[in-house]
Amino acid sequence: MEPYPATLEHEDLLVRRGRRSGLYCIVAVHSTVRGPSVGGCRMWRYDDSRAAVRDALKLSRAMTFKSAAAALPMGGGKGVIMLRGEAPTGRARTGLLLDFAETVGLLGGAYKTAEDVGTSLRDMTVIARGTPHVSGLSRAKGGSGDPSPWTAVGVEAAILASAERAFGSSDLRGRTVSVVGLGHVGLRVAELVARRGAKLIAADIVPARRDDARRLGARWMTPAKALLAPADVLVPCALGGALNHETVPLIQAPVIAGAANNQLVEDSLDSDLAARGVLWAPDFVANAGGIINISVELAPGGYDPKVARAKVRGIADTLGAIYDAATTPLSAAMELARANLASA
Ligand code: NAD
Repeated sequence: MEPYPATLEHEDLLVRRGRRSGLYCIVAVHSTVRGPSVGGCRMWRYDDSRAAVRDALKLSRAMTFKSAAAALPMGGGKGVIMLRGEAPTGRARTGLLLDFAETVGLLGGAYKTAEDVGTSLRDMTVIARGTPHVSGLSRAKGGSGDPSPWTAVGVEAAILASAERAFGSSDLRGRTVSVVGLGHVGLRVAELVARRGAKLIAADIVPARRDDARRLGARWMTPAKALLAPADVLVPCALGGALNHETVPLIQAPVIAGAANNQLVEDSLDSDLAARGVLWAPDFVANAGGIINISVELAPGGYDPKVARAKVRGIADTLGAIYDAATTPLSAAMELARANLASA
């Protein structure tokens, strides 16, 4: 079993059994130093409640650094609903979401929730019946909608900034881009870079995604092959852990910039990549587009997609500053986040 985070440096941890559903609703607030904590609500099955609590602690801490690196006026928090069996539907789901809303409400605004793995825009509308502390609502309800397209815009900005740094030009015409994971974010990134004239390699574990790859004129490969293909840019958009001790020595792409969270199985791999001359865009910087979009929704004056687009594209400048640093990208990104936390 994975160890607990070394220190419990969090501000709040609330674990409640929902009175309607009987399921655990967990909220961890890691930091409100830069503002109310914001992070998605994950609805997932865990082996036991300790694993669910650990996930909330770990993910909320990561949100603190993601928002701080992007200089957002927000802290880090995360919600977890621990399922037993299949995700409920209908009235049972409504009851569960209202249980979660009650947990969020108890924190009085220190935590604002949003979509994450297992929860949808529609779920946020239900949670909003029980608490005002919800973001990522539909545009019709005054929210900023699904964050995934914005995460993709941010990843595109990260790819361009990294290409500029590695190749001296952000022009993707004729460059090969390998997208591993054609889900909500990966497919959109593939479309965006194809529009810029890149040659695409695409991979997913779901065979049906091959139709999307074909539509974009991409070469379809197994995920293992796409990860190690002789591409110019590798774009990890599946789950975490793509960059590990087996893959890092074999990766051929000189640039890696993608949406997946926790791409490195171990922080030290950042140095291994740098030693091999591979430019790696730290994941929590490259994939911040969704949370940046939510910050615009929460800003005074309300949501404006034009403001959101400009801010999300600012990921390129953040990465530029990180690449200018004399240290590795991960160290530079952590230093930036810590400096922004210290100055808050
Ligand atoms: P998603 O579930 O829509 O897509 C993930 C895709 O990866 C799916 O098509 C899945 O079949 C595929 N996949 C899973 N395992 C794979 C493997 N081993 N090899 C190849 N493909 C595999 O998720 P998403 O919303 O597109 O998010 C993608 C990644 O980006 C996740 O790591 C997520 O945590 C991260 N992320 C997403 C957002 C967002 O706004 N959606 C924001 C920040 C970070």
